[in-house]
Amino acid sequence: MELTREVARRFNNFYKLDGRDVLPEPDVLLTPSPKLPGTDGRKMSKSYGNTILLSDPEPEVRKKLKTMVTDPARVRRTDPGDPDKCPVGDLHKVFSTPETLAKVYDGCRSAGIGCIECKGWAADALVQVLNPIQERRAGFTEAEVKDILEDGSERARVRAEQTMVEVRAAMQMPE
Ligand code: SF4
Repeated sequence: MELTREVARRFNNFYKLDGRDVLPEPDVLLTPSPKLPGTDGRKMSKSYGNTILLSDPEPEVRKKLKTMVTDPARVRRTDPGDPDKCPVGDLHKVFSTPETLAKVYDGCRSAGIGCIECKGWAADALVQVLNPIQERRAGFTEAEVKDILEDGSERARVRAEQTMVEVRAAMQMPE
């Protein structure tokens, strides 16, 4: 994102078209919970091997959640914790209902619930989100997926060419 912003800024500094910028500077669109942690608490990334995949079947999701790191302050079951310092808490913020989230905050801070129970609720919430995605995915044939990808590529190509026409004009390059 930063690199793309820099490219747009540099280009706009050098070239104008009818006195205006050609490349809009991109910006991030963040949800209220922009960070989705991986099972080890770091940024979720394939290269870290800490991902929960959209295609993971339910048993796999539950298995991964079971080993997910938690608030390090909760060494013993009787130690209170803080969902704001726990990657599982971050998942709850994205996927759980307000009622479940309230139970997580109350239970964690009072040590009224254990992490295993809490992770079970997080897995329930995740599975609820993943199930319809996986069902929809299973309904597509390989040919249909290829068509969708080709259609998306074509639309992207048309948009990119519109921009490139302006880029070449601004740089006074031949069409
Ligand atoms: S109870 Fe839940 S939010 Fe609190 S530390 Fe354990 S897993 Fe994290």
